[in-house]
Amino acid sequence: MSDRGLAGTAIAVIGAGAVGCALAYRLSQAGARVTVIETAYPGAGTSGNSFAWLNAFGKEPRDYWRLNLRSIREHQDLQDELNGSWLVRSGAWHWADADGANYTPNLPATVRQLLAWGSRIDAYSPAEVKAIEPALAFGPDVSEVFLVHNEGWLQAALMIQALLTRAKEQYGAEVLRDEVIGLDGPNGVVDTVHLASGARLGVDMVVVAAGPRTADIATLVGSHIPLELSYGFFAVTAPAPTPLRRVAVGPRLIARPDGGGRVLLGSEEVLSLGRGASVTADSPEIVRLAAQAQNMMPDLAGVPVEAMRKGERVVPADGYPIVGWDTRLDGVYYAVTHSGITLSAALGNLVVEDLLSGGSDVLAQYRPSRFN
Ligand SMILES: Cc1cc2nc3c(=O)[nH]c(=O)nc-3n(C[C@H](O)[C@H](O)[C@H](O)COP(=O)(O)OP(=O)(O)OC[C@H]3O[C@@H](n4cnc5c(N)ncnc54)[C@H](O)[C@@H]3O)c2cc1C
Repeated sequence: MSDRGLAGTAIAVIGAGAVGCALAYRLSQAGARVTVIETAYPGAGTSGNSFAWLNAFGKEPRDYWRLNLRSIREHQDLQDELNGSWLVRSGAWHWADADGANYTPNLPATVRQLLAWGSRIDAYSPAEVKAIEPALAFGPDVSEVFLVHNEGWLQAALMIQALLTRAKEQYGAEVLRDEVIGLDGPNGVVDTVHLASGARLGVDMVVVAAGPRTADIATLVGSHIPLELSYGFFAVTAPAPTPLRRVAVGPRLIARPDGGGRVLLGSEEVLSLGRGASVTADSPEIVRLAAQAQNMMPDLAGVPVEAMRKGERVVPADGYPIVGWDTRLDGVYYAVTHSGITLSAALGNLVVEDLLSGGSDVLAQYRPSRFN
């Protein structure tokens, strides 16, 4: 970067999901001339169909756990800065049944590890939980329920809207609804973005934050970003007077409030259905899910599933974020990760630091070059 830092640098951000919008906001705030290019609408990708649980639970090794935790804190800063209300940092309940079944494998060992690393976790009896979170019911074989304090969830669409609005109104960013179909430039330096509309955009650099489509964009410049894709479904209940306040991670089910009295429900079974799967409220998997949900939250008895959501999950080949410059060409920078809702706030700050300082220490282990 020049002595002027990012001031005046023309940056195209491909993708208006949680990651692209956090980056666009922080880059434009740092002085860059940012153009966000989104083929559908902001939040239309994975971010709008995510469970959006903010967590560092079971995330190893310690550096990666720390990065997730840092990002949860930075989500609070981001919300305060933008004067928003999309974030709920009320913690999450975790418990297993007598067989040890939980959404997170080996719950007691994970809790021990997190406590050793300094997480704030309290153990409650089911009766004590009942007084704090009356929505939840537990089977007779549950003796201990953990409240992990530094967790929560957020409404991604509201965050995305606020990030883009502030980036546009205060820092002059532009948002184009178009599809990136080509990237090129002379002598191995990408300086032009080709759009499906026929328009061309001259840029100093491109940030690829296209979620599951990131590998396709890398292919446009002959590069390889190793990602695995999978699909997950959630059920959303009709609005009901269910007093669930926190994320609940039980033996076979994960649930959280979804606004307006709705509850978002996922089970291991429906969260890992394949690409071609199509489920409706009447599908056997969803009927089973609804029955499990009623055992966990008796107030849901008789409350119908109102809608299904399907999300396309992207997981880098080794499970960790891929953030940094293309290894073959100049001008192309990638930001793709699983847990992108949790990590988006920190990535916005870290990418700016990376570009300004010539290399963020935190991001050093997440470079695309590790796959060379
Ligand atoms: C079922 C499920 C549950 C999840 N649960 C959690 C969770 O609890 N907590 C958590 O932190 N994470 C969770 N995740 C992961 C998280 O949702 C994603 O990591 C995050 O949403 C990715 O955000 P993103 O901005 O990188 O991508 P996206 O939100 O997918 O955004 C990419 C955007 O790029 C656009 N685009 C693509 N190609 C082009 C192109 N050629 N030109 C222009 N625009 C383009 C797309 O339209 C899209 O809007 C979950 C994911 C799934 C599928």
